[in-house]
Amino acid sequence: MPPTFETLLETWTGESVLIHRDRPTGTWVFIALYSTRPGTPMGGTRMRVYDRPADGLRDALRLAEGMAYKWACLGLEKGGGKAVLAVPEPMRGKARRDLLLRYGKLVESLGGAFATGEDLGTTPADMAVLHEVTRYVHGIREDGRVTDPGPFTANGVAHGIRSVVTEVLDRRDLEGLRVAVQGLGDVGEPLVRILHRKGADLTLADVEVDRAEDLARELGAASVPAAEIYCADCDVFAPCAVGGILNPSTIPQLRCRIVAGSANNQLEVPDRDSLHLRDRGIVYVPDFVINAGGALVFGTMTGTDGPEELMAKTEAIGFTVREILREAREREETPLEAAFRRAERVLRD
Ligand code: NAD
Repeated sequence: MPPTFETLLETWTGESVLIHRDRPTGTWVFIALYSTRPGTPMGGTRMRVYDRPADGLRDALRLAEGMAYKWACLGLEKGGGKAVLAVPEPMRGKARRDLLLRYGKLVESLGGAFATGEDLGTTPADMAVLHEVTRYVHGIREDGRVTDPGPFTANGVAHGIRSVVTEVLDRRDLEGLRVAVQGLGDVGEPLVRILHRKGADLTLADVEVDRAEDLARELGAASVPAAEIYCADCDVFAPCAVGGILNPSTIPQLRCRIVAGSANNQLEVPDRDSLHLRDRGIVYVPDFVINAGGALVFGTMTGTDGPEELMAKTEAIGFTVREILREAREREETPLEAAFRRAERVLRD
């Protein structure tokens, strides 16, 4: 039976959810607040078409929980929150702007109980629209310009990949490392460019086929149809698109040693799928650890720091990934178990 609003909310361990229906567009708005005790819940706003509204709610609940773990692993005093705009069809032009303005007013009406930023399906330009009607948008600089988190997240993922290949493959650099990247958007594209500069051998895929083919042509990389990226022969598979893509049907197809990418909630069922990956000899770097570069920058930015200063902060992601992998090895557990324990320790304290 597919989940319903009731079953999802009954089993969720977070605090509260605001459910709002935007009547002019038929959009369902879900603002999930997983934890408020550590601090104000902060998390991105996702805009996506779902098969059913309950799928959007499920995404919001899981993403908010992931944000709580992400902040905890970063050691920042923020609560886990996330918003999902489950749109009935892709929104463009005036309809999109008007929807964002109405949503921004809703966020403002919460009086600071939730602060947001960009996520899958939303852009820095969307955040500028929100900022017209609410103060609770992060990434807005003192001069009013909007900072794009994607390049920071990508740089953090690149640092994380560097750490995991050192730990697992005993490699000192990324020269010749074979990386398959799924999703070439705000994070995937800058990640691919960083890896290319470091000499990695890349295979690219995106559901927007032209995006993959154009980038592959420009960088002299390979591109494959979206469904074939799982069986690309590679050292590292980097999921940078949607969640739930690691599951009993895709894990047997993988031909990599490591999974390390930016997508949130990569594991369809975390415990089951992380053990399945371990049994296949694949090291999975927990998504909420390796994709925290943008959150780290946004959670600590003052509004005046320069781009290089901000970018330098993302090096911390590489250190955290290394610590978690070492802890997992010492305790003979999966990196996911080590990351959860670390986050829970912080949340408890
Ligand atoms: P985006 O919307 O800019 O890009 C996503 C890309 O993935 C698009 O090019 C889309 O066409 C492609 N795509 C979608 N489904 C696909 C599929 N099944 N196979 C292949 N390609 C597919 O999103 P983004 O901001 O780059 O975020 C990517 C992922 O990283 C998301 O899961 C997001 O939650 C996560 N994330 C993003 C940030 C950030 O700073 N933007 C931070 C942390 C985590």
